[in-house]
Amino acid sequence: MNFLLTGGVVFRDGTFQNMDVAISKGRIVSVSPSLSQEGFSVIECQDQVIVPGFVDVHVHLREPGFSYKETVASGTAAAAAGGYTAVCAMPNLDPVPDALDHLRPELDAVARDARVRVYPYGAITRGEKGAELAELRAMKPFVCGFSDDGKGVQSRERMRDAMLLAKELNKPITAHCEDESLLTPGWCVHNGDWAKRNGFPGNNSESEWRQVERDLELVRETGCRYHVCHVSTKESVALIRQAKAEGLPVSCETGPHYLILCDEDLMDDGRFKMSPPIRSAADRDALVEGLLDGTIDCIATDHAPHSAEEKSRGLRSLNGIVGLECAFPVLYTQLVEPGVVPFATLLNALCVNPRRLFRLPGGKIEAGEIADLTVLDLNWPHTIDSTTFFSQGRATPFDGWTVTAGVDKTICNGNLVYTASSHNVNKTPIPPCQEDYI
Ligand SMILES: [Zn+2]
Repeated sequence: MNFLLTGGVVFRDGTFQNMDVAISKGRIVSVSPSLSQEGFSVIECQDQVIVPGFVDVHVHLREPGFSYKETVASGTAAAAAGGYTAVCAMPNLDPVPDALDHLRPELDAVARDARVRVYPYGAITRGEKGAELAELRAMKPFVCGFSDDGKGVQSRERMRDAMLLAKELNKPITAHCEDESLLTPGWCVHNGDWAKRNGFPGNNSESEWRQVERDLELVRETGCRYHVCHVSTKESVALIRQAKAEGLPVSCETGPHYLILCDEDLMDDGRFKMSPPIRSAADRDALVEGLLDGTIDCIATDHAPHSAEEKSRGLRSLNGIVGLECAFPVLYTQLVEPGVVPFATLLNALCVNPRRLFRLPGGKIEAGEIADLTVLDLNWPHTIDSTTFFSQGRATPFDGWTVTAGVDKTICNGNLVYTASSHNVNKTPIPPCQEDYI
């Protein structure tokens, strides 16, 4: 299919330019202020912004092993509806992708059902159990990096071994940082004033930042590319800022919920339960500061669906919320509209930096690039309604929030994969893009 996106404002090189974009055979073929419409199916983008498709470097698609929570089909449909053209899929699956034969079922499900590009992570350790290293070398051609997400790697020696090998393989280690020896059993919220007032066991900030601190020492020693998952504490932000100033190959992400909410917003509802927990106002403000000064590179949702029953036990529910289908509208409305974060900074965190860090194709709206694009409508007041989600998960703290912007269309591999007007996701499988990737 050939498409011409006309009348829109294109985000390129950090600026906004009035341009038409022509797409043919999965590629951008021309970008110019005015293009001939002959031979193209025209998509009117008046008053809309065309950006490189979003990339979420931290999602849980739950297949194989937990298809009652989510599948590759439902999770990538949610991604398409949220404006994402690529997601990096975490390995806490069954089987855990810790060897090629354990990665195969996930690759098969992706080849069959992915509505956007999926780049799996391989596990760092066998079964994500922290004892023995997984088969990193064998998995390398098929994965975007290595992670034991859901758990921290407790052994310093094992993490050092993993970093040395990842460095040799030129892949990043993407770390869920959590020192279990510093955790309170049964924690369900941040260990702050709200926890004390309301009588809930708290999770210490130290459990996160102590492990970030340890890993940064190992990066200094090994030179491994290292990405910190879902940074939630002000201390972690300060450590990562310092490491970047030293020139270490370090990057990180945080989630929309950590940038927008704090523990004073908590309700005893599964929609507010995730790991790490939503922390104090001071932590939230430090995260926003980190996004503004470039310490925080990416916004990733940590989309982690569970069944309704699993999320029915208030703040004692399983950890994880969904994020793909409301991230952009909520971030734009809460951070860009009030002038807290420049729009270009938000877009860089959603679509430019993730590709640069994980060496994924796309990210530029130029002739010759792959046609992975998102069309945004910034004048679209509506309400987040989780009952309309393509995800099987429904738990988000932003359910019912009023937003002023949204994703109008998502184009992946030159195909129109999502259209808001019909709320439809195209079921054609989308291949991962191997170019520049292995
Ligand atoms: Zn995690």
